[in-house]
Amino acid sequence: MEVPQAAAPSANNWQHRTGGRGSRSDCLVLSARQRNRDSGASIEYGGVTNEERSKARPASGSLGSVALFGVPVRFHFTFVLLLIFLLFIGIGGHQSGAMTALYVVGLFASVLLHELGHTLVARRYGIRTMEIVMYPIGGVSRPERQPSAREELPIALAGPLVNFGIALALAAWVTSRQGFVALEKLAEPTDANLAERLALGNLMLFLFNLLPAYPMDGGRILRSLLALRMPADKATRAAASAGQALAVLMGLAGLLWGNFILMFVALFVYLGASQEGVAARGRQFTAGYAVRAAMITDLKTLQHGDTIRDAGNLLLTTSQHDFPVLHGGNVVGLPTRAALVRAMLNDGPEGYVAGAMDRDFARLRPEMPLSEALPQVSSPGACALVMDDGDQLLGMLTSENLSEFVLLRQAAEAQHRAHPA
Ligand code: ZN
Repeated sequence: MEVPQAAAPSANNWQHRTGGRGSRSDCLVLSARQRNRDSGASIEYGGVTNEERSKARPASGSLGSVALFGVPVRFHFTFVLLLIFLLFIGIGGHQSGAMTALYVVGLFASVLLHELGHTLVARRYGIRTMEIVMYPIGGVSRPERQPSAREELPIALAGPLVNFGIALALAAWVTSRQGFVALEKLAEPTDANLAERLALGNLMLFLFNLLPAYPMDGGRILRSLLALRMPADKATRAAASAGQALAVLMGLAGLLWGNFILMFVALFVYLGASQEGVAARGRQFTAGYAVRAAMITDLKTLQHGDTIRDAGNLLLTTSQHDFPVLHGGNVVGLPTRAALVRAMLNDGPEGYVAGAMDRDFARLRPEMPLSEALPQVSSPGACALVMDDGDQLLGMLTSENLSEFVLLRQAAEAQHRAHPA
């Protein structure tokens, strides 16, 4: 998933994740140093929205890739910039350049091993990882499908446990060599305490990722435990709410302590949790319905020979934004409102709608489960045509009427709870 997508949720966007795929279990691990201390956090995003799309192509802006256990690992260019920055600020004081580089590479490797932990356990359940992308705030692994509640518990635990294992191994090695080292001595980075600082960094990665704030690993663990007792989407919404609450507390703490990194992480947790909550709400209230139940059937259409002026008149006199274009009874294209406005500017009102329409529009079957159609109409302004086997137009599904459908189902359920029949 791309972080910017996750950072821009919208009201009628039940994604996630970042993909129409089930959901990705992305893990963002932040590692940054401030005041000579190291802090690390890993945030996971479960996105459903652009999954199908993002599955096919690698994350944008990534530089090169190496394969680890058959999984492509890519480096986002902002991550490479961070590495250079960390090296730059780390050199000097009591550290040599080589040791600083070793420290930065060690932390980076810990984050990568964390992701590999998720990847290898997921593989045991037959879930392939499409890719791991390293961002400045951490690693993100994209699974091919959303794991079930029972699969998610061990997969989510695996990442933090890797960091705990590294911390334990380093601590044991240091202790066997020179005995116990006082924690406060680690505040001063030197070449001699490199292993201790790496152990501490991994311990922080372990603890931070276990915070029960969905979409971090701890939140995923919470969700999988809740899902043993309640429907999966309800469990996701509960875990997402917990994530939002914790994010607010983290944000406040960051504000009080003047900790910019903590505020940044809180923002990502909040946005990730909100997105996942909206996605879960969409899935919960569309479960058991077919596309036919939510589609618009009373819709206006254009003819192949109609002009932009005709389309403009329809745009003004109806509440519709998208008008299927018919030719001899068959749908030949779908000009969106944005495309019509563009054509109006370029060709004027006498231009033909045929020149402004998208011929490769989204199509749905009326009997298709509504929850499966969510990814296709999740982004704001999205529109898909519902066609039968003979390619006859039956109706249309838009992000707006899907939002209304979910709202009505939610109201109906609340009414039913208040006055059970
Ligand atoms: Zn993780």
